[in-house]
Amino acid sequence: MNTRTTIGRTGIEVNPIGLGTNAVGGHNIYPDLDEEKGKNVVRTAIENGMDFLDTAFIYGPEHSEELTGAVVKEYDRSSVVIATKGAHEFKGNEVVINNSPMFLKQQVENSLKRLQTDYIDLYYIHFPDEDTPKDEAVGALKELKDEGKIRSIGVSNFSLEQLKQANKDGYVGVIQSEYNLFKREAEKELLPYVQENGISFVPYFPLASGLLAGKYNRDTTFAEDDIRSGSPLFQGENFYHNLKKVEQVKDIAADKNADTAHVVLAWYLTHDAIDTIIPGAKRKDQVIDNLNTLNVELTQTDIQKISDIFS
Ligand code: NAP
Repeated sequence: MNTRTTIGRTGIEVNPIGLGTNAVGGHNIYPDLDEEKGKNVVRTAIENGMDFLDTAFIYGPEHSEELTGAVVKEYDRSSVVIATKGAHEFKGNEVVINNSPMFLKQQVENSLKRLQTDYIDLYYIHFPDEDTPKDEAVGALKELKDEGKIRSIGVSNFSLEQLKQANKDGYVGVIQSEYNLFKREAEKELLPYVQENGISFVPYFPLASGLLAGKYNRDTTFAEDDIRSGSPLFQGENFYHNLKKVEQVKDIAADKNADTAHVVLAWYLTHDAIDTIIPGAKRKDQVIDNLNTLNVELTQTDIQKISDIFS
């Protein structure tokens, strides 16, 4: 597999294996995170050529960006590609989604400060709100792009209709959506549209929060405040059936002298619209391990077999 790729039409070149950083300072998502360990995850990524870092305002909140920015500061800024996201607004105890041009522009300024940088490589509108016309929201980011504050524009968790409106003027370079072997709705409409329109698709939860890494068994349990304890993928009989599917990928991986996680991650990268993946990591060894995906070559037969297991 190629060790460099260009993210769609953005012109931004990265290692196809990126790093999802919601477990770096993202205490509101995963409990008991050690911040120094989190920073070491980011350091390990950068030092091993994993140069595409995915963060967001809401991870922490603020803290994932702060820790990521602090680590990036230790290196040459141009050797790292930072993607971040915004749209959450705190109103007292309430969190609302806001895509208004004024709010997004302020969010970008705040992210720049937390990341300690003067440009963001890829800025996503993290979630769609109900009111703002999506082309106007993207229009605000286009102005920031023209000013050099961001290098490319992304949207996340947008429906096909919202994406079409957002991309009315052709400014959207990337969409990030949930997509993994267990959750394939994007194949119906989103993936065909992005492929036709030159938009790069970044799948989130590529390992289905670790389930597709092939390391869990029927007895595995999660802490009450871990997001997996509430996910239907990990409940009762459903969990059992899902584990059996993962076992079948394990067999394909074993034939290739590879690990399940690497075969799964390589599978996404065989899609024409998917240039990069951003598996999350909590420890340094997971970062290094995920880079082994680059050694996996899948044949058309492998690709079909894996698809069929989860169809
Ligand atoms: P994920 O990538 O599906 O799963 C990550 C988890 O898998 C890790 O926390 C770790 O869990 C396990 N893992 C990772 N590498 C492994 C390896 N080599 N071997 C075995 N296990 C491994 O889920 P995610 O981290 O939640 O999502 C990825 C990224 O997508 C996030 O970091 C974030 O940047 C982004 N995201 C975006 C949105 C959005 O709305 N746009 C939403 C969610 C996530 P354990 O060690 O605990 O088992």
